[in-house]
Amino acid sequence: MPLWTPVNYNKVYQKRRPRPRASRTLRSRALRARAAMKPFHQLDLTGLHVLDGAMATELERKGFDLSGPLWSAHVLESSPEAIAGVHRDYLEAGADCLLTASYQVSTEGFQKIGYDTRSATTAAANALRASVSIAEKVRRDYQAGSSRRLWIGASLGPYGAMLHDGSEYHGDYACSFDDLVGFHTRRIAVLAETNADFLAFESIPSLEEAKAILAALVPYPDLAVYLSFTCRDGRHVSHGETLQACAQLLDGRPQVIGIGVNCTAPELIGNLIRQLAEVTSKPIVVYPNSGEAWDAVHRCWQGDGQIQEFGELARRWRGEGAQWIGGCCRTGPEHVRAVAGVWRN
Ligand SMILES: [Zn+2]
Repeated sequence: MPLWTPVNYNKVYQKRRPRPRASRTLRSRALRARAAMKPFHQLDLTGLHVLDGAMATELERKGFDLSGPLWSAHVLESSPEAIAGVHRDYLEAGADCLLTASYQVSTEGFQKIGYDTRSATTAAANALRASVSIAEKVRRDYQAGSSRRLWIGASLGPYGAMLHDGSEYHGDYACSFDDLVGFHTRRIAVLAETNADFLAFESIPSLEEAKAILAALVPYPDLAVYLSFTCRDGRHVSHGETLQACAQLLDGRPQVIGIGVNCTAPELIGNLIRQLAEVTSKPIVVYPNSGEAWDAVHRCWQGDGQIQEFGELARRWRGEGAQWIGGCCRTGPEHVRAVAGVWRN
């Protein structure tokens, strides 16, 4: 049996009408969903310390072309076994948690490649569900031979990641607050019906987008979520607000199970942990990039991402108060192995 119902891209490109489906409102999906994802107060996260590493750059390393607007999302349809392979590699390296390959999945993303609104909504929902199903199967298979506890976080990138123009790194969007809320609401509604353990909002560039995510979560007060921001220096998120202001917004929300920083240079992380620790007692989540920097002019990564150094930094981050540590862009299983060593040696 396939893991999910694949969307036939060619059919859509040929502008055939999608197969009619029983009409379901997002609201009715949401109501069913609440029964699916465990409420945050029933979620036991004891023992969760090691997050996984990059999905997209790891797929690129395996030869996949992720240059389109759907990024790793199209691999969900074309090669789910490749996604599963990356997940497996991370579990074997010592990750306690898999983040699904759904970062870039959205209705808007499918519209960008030619889907009409209805078929884009269906395709995005299928891809989101598929991303969780793939991770669940990998977890099930792995746990057949291991007693380790493992969690699945459903990855959700910021609005700017869907725009595919780099704007997730500044968060200066030409859209209304309601557009932002709607964008996040549509994906939350689908993922809430899955067996993910929590939602992982990643690479959030601004206080405004964090507010929009909280607004989108109002109908889902029981869902466990973490929010992780990108930062441009040791104090400020990419859009310019302080990380502390973002953390203070989230600190009083019971459903927020962690606050963190990702997709940011490793040398900034220590200071950012200290900023977070001053204003929140929530678990601090950090998963920086490998240490290489994206060169936007030449469209390639520059510098190096020393694995041994990454492990030493992770040890320091743990000492400074980070509870969950993993890797973002350009990190791979060896970085995760180095992080796992910090907790297990
Ligand atoms: Zn990243």
